[in-house]
Amino acid sequence: MWYVVSVIFGGLIGSFLNVCIARLPKEESIVFPGSHCPRCGHPIRSYDNVPIISYFLLKGKCRDCQASISIQYPLVEGITVLGSLLLFLRFGPSVGYFVYFAFVSALIVITVIDLYHQIIPDVISLPGIGVGLLASLLLPGITFWNSLAGVLLGGGSLFVVATLYQWLFKREGMGGGDVKLLAMIGAFLGWKAVILTILLSSLIGSIAGIAIMLLKGKDFKYAIPFGPFLAAGAVISLAYGGNIINWYLNLNR
Ligand SMILES: [Zn+2]
Repeated sequence: MWYVVSVIFGGLIGSFLNVCIARLPKEESIVFPGSHCPRCGHPIRSYDNVPIISYFLLKGKCRDCQASISIQYPLVEGITVLGSLLLFLRFGPSVGYFVYFAFVSALIVITVIDLYHQIIPDVISLPGIGVGLLASLLLPGITFWNSLAGVLLGGGSLFVVATLYQWLFKREGMGGGDVKLLAMIGAFLGWKAVILTILLSSLIGSIAGIAIMLLKGKDFKYAIPFGPFLAAGAVISLAYGGNIINWYLNLNR
């Protein structure tokens, strides 16, 4: 029964995340007006606004003007549902579920906005740092000091990297958005996970970079946003971080 609730809750939040993804980069209100078709402007009827299901019932088209609806909508909703269910399976009905679901939701919005616009909105990452710090007071798995160390290490390390890069190459390699995102990740997951997230995201980013170079030719002028890789590293750290760190420590014994 509770699993069904976590799936429905995930769908509703996923639907809201799509609104955030569409409106935050334009600095529009995420509350008013209600959902409407971006082409014809017709308000979405409530029975056409059921997460995931409506997309398939409408065959991916607006009921009024037949404009095609981006596959992004059901994808974001599906991933959010999956995140909600997996976190519920792990944490049960607890503060941990809500805190980490909010964290993962923020990462989903940041990832999609960064892919489209190459920006990471401060309106998510900065309050996220505060929420992560406060949540550490409620969560059993992380102390406030660990959370604070995560913010300082996450923000500090990338800040040094970004400054050095700018100084050496006279252009911006890593945006300030990445710095604030890693500080937020540190606030939620602690300082060890920050190190793991940097290692994992560099690894995934390198593999993706090489793949894109091979697919699109050698001219490597595509600025790949780094936010999605940081988000992926953070999710893996959240899911398996303890196991990976223990495995590594055992290797070195
Ligand atoms: Zn329309």
